[in-house]
Amino acid sequence: MKFNTKVIHGGQQHEPHTGSVNVPVFLTSTFAQRTPGELKAGYEYSRAANPTRQALEDALASIENGATGLAFGSGLAAMDAVLKFLNPGDEVIAVDDLYGGSYRLFTRLYEKYDLKFTFVSFHDVSKIADIITDKTKLIWLETPTNPLMKLVDIKAVADLIKGKDILLAVDNTFASPYIQRPIDLGADIVMHSATKYLGGHSDVIAGALITKTKELGDALHFIQFASGGILGPHDSYLVLRGIKTLSLRMQRHSENGIEVAKYLEQHPAVQNVFYPGLPSHPQYELAKKQMKENGGMVSFTFKSGKKEDAVKLLENLKVFTLAESLGGVESLANHPASMTHASIPAEKRAELGITDDLVRLSVGIEDLEDLISDLEIAFSSI
Ligand SMILES: *Cc1c(COP(=O)(O)O)cnc(C)c1O
Repeated sequence: MKFNTKVIHGGQQHEPHTGSVNVPVFLTSTFAQRTPGELKAGYEYSRAANPTRQALEDALASIENGATGLAFGSGLAAMDAVLKFLNPGDEVIAVDDLYGGSYRLFTRLYEKYDLKFTFVSFHDVSKIADIITDKTKLIWLETPTNPLMKLVDIKAVADLIKGKDILLAVDNTFASPYIQRPIDLGADIVMHSATKYLGGHSDVIAGALITKTKELGDALHFIQFASGGILGPHDSYLVLRGIKTLSLRMQRHSENGIEVAKYLEQHPAVQNVFYPGLPSHPQYELAKKQMKENGGMVSFTFKSGKKEDAVKLLENLKVFTLAESLGGVESLANHPASMTHASIPAEKRAELGITDDLVRLSVGIEDLEDLISDLEIAFSSI
């Protein structure tokens, strides 16, 4: 099956009793047994498995070309399960431009359980070899990164650690499997905030893990079962429904994304535009190699360098909603320094280039003309 067919049919079966084309929402905590310990269809208790969640998990494995899919109550709950797979003393190397909540989970929660995190630029992958130690057990990547749209060459990192006892995990939230499939490039684990492009409609908080091997999937399923961070059946249904239109949505996000990026790049008030589909992006060649299209995330800064200009623009947008999050059908705008990335210390933000005049857009699937004119009017208010 090819990708556009998989998003609709991958791992999916019609409901066997009624022929229902869509998987029903199985609102049940438990399942009747004929005789103690003998299950009717493999289901026992919904923390362990629920048929609606199972349908989503099978779909996730299918679209990411993995062996096992797991659905969690949020993206961070999914990450939390990966960290619980590690042991005290283990070391993690993570990309330095990271979702703020991921940084918070690593440093404020897991450092106290004696995991050690090193945050580095993966721009030059060969330099990573120097910081790998015997204790390195996990490499955590985001690509494109949030909010500066830096890319990491997933295959180069996978090749670097081949044969070593190190897991490679990729947060694929920004790209979605329509744009890139990390397992095909050598990753062991793919993570999603399914709240974003997979759900696609800003109506659910959800997370996902997909593993290359069934063995690793079983180990992470045990963690999910034992610590309970599952996705409920209704939310599972919403994500499954969202996935069916993933290809169509990502095509339009990408079409609008490049045009908004080009518009910003020629605007006299704009300093830098961060979008992998622009030839001015320092990793444009890698984008062409690794990504099918470029998605809907665009960040930019002002020539003036002033926070007030960013704030003014954000206050005057009408079609773009000023809100956290991304990846829904509607366009959103965000001020990373005071919203999504406020949990990263100011000096660290400055070091990374997350300046106070940085604006991040999640370009939706509305008519492009309306998006551009919204930006035009907001710029003229400055
Ligand atoms: C939103 C997001 C997360 C966290 O996911 P939640 O569903 O909000 O828990 C992690 N990584 C990235 C890149 C995100 O955008």
